[in-house]
Amino acid sequence: MTDIVIHDAIVLTVDDRNRLFERGTVAVDDGRITAIRPSNADDELVDADAVIDGGGMVVLPGLVNAHTHLEMTPLIGAFSDLDLLEMMGSGIALFNRLGEGDFEYLVEAGYELAALNFLVGGVTTVNSMDIRPSTGAETFGDAGLRGFFGPVITDLFWDTPVDEQFARARSFIDSYHGSYDGRIRATICPHDDWSCTRSLWERTADLAAEYPDLPVHTHLLELEESNTMARANGAGDSIALLEDVGLLNNQLIAAHFRIADDDDIHRVAAADASVAHCPSVFCYWNPDGETQWTPVPELRAAGVDVGIGIDDHYWHDSYSLFGEARQTRLAANLERGAGQFSSMELVRMLTIEGARALGVGDEIGSLEPGKRADMILLDVDKPKFTPLTNIPAQVVNNAAPADVASVIVNGDIVMRDRDVQTMDPAAIQESVESAVERFEASSGWNLDISKGDPPSAVETVHDLPKCGPVHLLSRLAFQSVKDRLRL
Ligand SMILES: [Zn+2]
Repeated sequence: MTDIVIHDAIVLTVDDRNRLFERGTVAVDDGRITAIRPSNADDELVDADAVIDGGGMVVLPGLVNAHTHLEMTPLIGAFSDLDLLEMMGSGIALFNRLGEGDFEYLVEAGYELAALNFLVGGVTTVNSMDIRPSTGAETFGDAGLRGFFGPVITDLFWDTPVDEQFARARSFIDSYHGSYDGRIRATICPHDDWSCTRSLWERTADLAAEYPDLPVHTHLLELEESNTMARANGAGDSIALLEDVGLLNNQLIAAHFRIADDDDIHRVAAADASVAHCPSVFCYWNPDGETQWTPVPELRAAGVDVGIGIDDHYWHDSYSLFGEARQTRLAANLERGAGQFSSMELVRMLTIEGARALGVGDEIGSLEPGKRADMILLDVDKPKFTPLTNIPAQVVNNAAPADVASVIVNGDIVMRDRDVQTMDPAAIQESVESAVERFEASSGWNLDISKGDPPSAVETVHDLPKCGPVHLLSRLAFQSVKDRLRL
């Protein structure tokens, strides 16, 4: 007997031909899609464990959040109205305390809240770079979701000893990679190209060589300082540094890639590396207003898979990956003129290109027989979707998390008709509320219903890492002087 049959739905396959069935049937067995075809009159009578009437629904692949950080999720609202400097200062102080093992209860609540809110919003896969990802792997695994997780590694951002960071990374890989029926996978996460020394990149490359199947997930060409630090690290620029150490290859997932020039695009395309585009973070916290916008159309034209990520969603208060697709379009059109993407291209970036960026495009990201059954049902029988024309545009311009009716991951129904099957939303709300109360009492943050206030500047400075950032800033300053003098 078949496990699941969805019949009489609009099916947006996102296959190579972008096939769209007006009245389609999808069958799932043993975790995989077994058939996609036009519906027959008697499909509702098919013998299956779950027969889902897809009338008024659009079925599409589960969304892939290609770059994010999840453990501080309960602090949504805390950073929203701070200026950039306050946000960076209080954020780094918090990262440092998390790295030292503080606020474990907040991390636990954060992963539960993130898993729940992304699940109900149609995100079936996340790629999260965090400080203490073990809890995330277990929470997402138990929730029935798919997740790529890895612990941050950096030697100029905080003071955690490098040996300890690599020991944590190795132990995470050995404990979690391939767990939960392969739904949970490990990644290697050097934090970025502006807070890591060459020696850290070399050690990272050694670790990656030991685990050649693992993605290497980093922030790349995010800030003007990226190439400056690469020169301080003895390389021509950021991409050359990765090439020097042996990490410029098809396992690389580069978040942002904002300041990339044509040569950077060409080298990343030639290496078959991938990019995760995260528009909201920079639209919200744009540090300068002068820097160019991420050249996503050029990257895609060069053949680079570009997924979409929500990044630090607790800085810009959103769980909506649909919203990131809309923001991808709006930011690009504002900067460069209308028509930067078709709606279908954005749907592809939300699904199959995100999956390819993570190296799992053969398994998920589109609805095709043989692929793992990760799919969502959007309820489009609503005034907001009437008249129901141009489905790809409705998905990327108009859909919201609340329109997701049902979610299937790996052939298991994890939400049906808005009823979450794998988590207890009320219990999660309660545990998040008590975690945030405890956090306020012990951290100096004040999070009330009118706004969020970080601890005083004195307390923040006290909690900042003492060595890392000082080395970081002095290296950048020294290299800037050398650049100016052309040494
Ligand atoms: Zn990020």
